[in-house]
Amino acid sequence: MSSQFADWLNEVARKWQEAWEKAEAFKADPRDGKRKLFVTAAFPYTNQPLDFYYARLFVTADVYSRLARAQGYNVLFPFAFQYTGTPIISVANAIKRGDSEVIERLEKQYDVSPGEVKGLSDPLEMARYFHARIKEAVRALGLSVDWRREFTTVDPAFERFVQWQYRRLREKGLLKQEDAPVAYCPVDNFPVGMHDTKGDVEPEVSDFDAVHFDSSDFSFLAAFPRPETIFGTVAIMLNPEAEYVLVELGNRKAVMSKEAHERLKYQRDMKVLRSLKGKELEGLTAFNPLTGTQVPVITSRYVSPKQGTGVVGAVPAHEPEHFLALAELGREFELIPVIKTEGLGEIPAPQVIDLAQTANPQELKDYIDTLYNLEYHKGYVREDVVDRVRDFLKPIVKEMIAGKSVREARKAVVGILRNLGVHETFYHITNGPVYCRCGAETVVKIVKGQWFVDYSNPLWKATALKAVGRMRVVPEEMKKSLERYVFEAKPRAITRTRGLGARLPWDDRQIIDQLSDSTIYMAFYAIAHRLKVPPSALNDAFWDYVMLGEGDLNEVSSSTGLSKEELMSLREEV
Ligand SMILES: [Zn+2]
Repeated sequence: MSSQFADWLNEVARKWQEAWEKAEAFKADPRDGKRKLFVTAAFPYTNQPLDFYYARLFVTADVYSRLARAQGYNVLFPFAFQYTGTPIISVANAIKRGDSEVIERLEKQYDVSPGEVKGLSDPLEMARYFHARIKEAVRALGLSVDWRREFTTVDPAFERFVQWQYRRLREKGLLKQEDAPVAYCPVDNFPVGMHDTKGDVEPEVSDFDAVHFDSSDFSFLAAFPRPETIFGTVAIMLNPEAEYVLVELGNRKAVMSKEAHERLKYQRDMKVLRSLKGKELEGLTAFNPLTGTQVPVITSRYVSPKQGTGVVGAVPAHEPEHFLALAELGREFELIPVIKTEGLGEIPAPQVIDLAQTANPQELKDYIDTLYNLEYHKGYVREDVVDRVRDFLKPIVKEMIAGKSVREARKAVVGILRNLGVHETFYHITNGPVYCRCGAETVVKIVKGQWFVDYSNPLWKATALKAVGRMRVVPEEMKKSLERYVFEAKPRAITRTRGLGARLPWDDRQIIDQLSDSTIYMAFYAIAHRLKVPPSALNDAFWDYVMLGEGDLNEVSSSTGLSKEELMSLREEV
């Protein structure tokens, strides 16, 4: 496009934008006899300028708004800005730290001058700065927005609106409080999400099982990614050169690798009693709590001190790497099959190694994943495991484990281990290592008393599914995904301990996060331009009346200090 033509286009755009502004063409108020249409698109985070993803989103909404106006609708198309939560604070912190990757992106990609960058280390300054830049861009695009209703998520009136929602949810029993594992930066001391990590990786947290194998006066705490294979354990394996620590864990003393302790200490209180090399523990024996057999403690270079607890229960019949490790040591060892799977031989581990024709753990990985998959989805626990377990366990193993699918048996094994007091649950980051922007590797920490919205509540699911049923969704196939999403929704943590945003009404150390304050934020547009009232007027009675039409008008008027006429006209906007 020639620059002359572009200049001409911009000139035309400016001319009409000025005319629209003068005529207040996009100001929308409720009008009798005109069909109302509310058009909205997700508001932007103010941690970067408007990008093409958002530009396309808003232009689409604008095209639709203009079409609807031409068809005679009274269209409201408003705009607001998201200031809440970690996306903004993590960029601000990165600037404070002098993170060159982030600073370079701001200067080169976002065209922020070096002088301005410094000021953006304050989260509120950053939000205001990009707020202004985004607004300028949206105006230049000529979007048909009713700007009177503009707000940010840190405006006092909006905070009151959010706090009202959470008090209501709590009254309705839709919130719950639990100890929860979260991805965490041990240097910054805060929970991390996608926006806080190098390369914007969302850390995935998952649990794993560990089992105490008692030795004299302490135990070896062995990680079992597949606890149902414990019946086939023939040895405890450690890495000979790695550092191990003896820790006090509850009323037990247990051995795990030093690296495991460094990560797992954020989940449980563990006092280190002493530290020693793996090879110093070689030659001891350890007690399998289900079979009652004593197994030898051996060492192998195949054991990674970084993985799990750094202590491995060797199951050579089902774990190809364990088979290789034991074979390399040249020791006699037993192969105890636990799971039978159609299409696999009785002892699958050596079979998989033959098939892969490699002893390289890296190259074996895909084959091992396939084996795990087959055994998990198609495998059954062999009947003869009953003969291998301790006498008092025989009836329960016969009833709950022998002949059962691996999926069922896994749950039952964990249940029995728990009842025997030899089971520990730990958490790890399954897509790790994931690094915080500060450079530290993220760990999993147990946050005490985390608040959740209970999306697993069946009454909520039924109500939400009914609402989705009434919606017209384009394209239609997406409706199925929406329904499935509601059906599968799980409790979701709603607060963080840092970032801008509304505080949890009953605990002001906690901030409602940037998704939890935005589930029904669009409703706020209806009255955003008319809330020039003292914040004390915006109590729960106010929101109940204006948003839901609940409460006695006289009482609401006296508790808020607003006239009945004012309240009624606000209610009309909604
Ligand atoms: Zn960090």
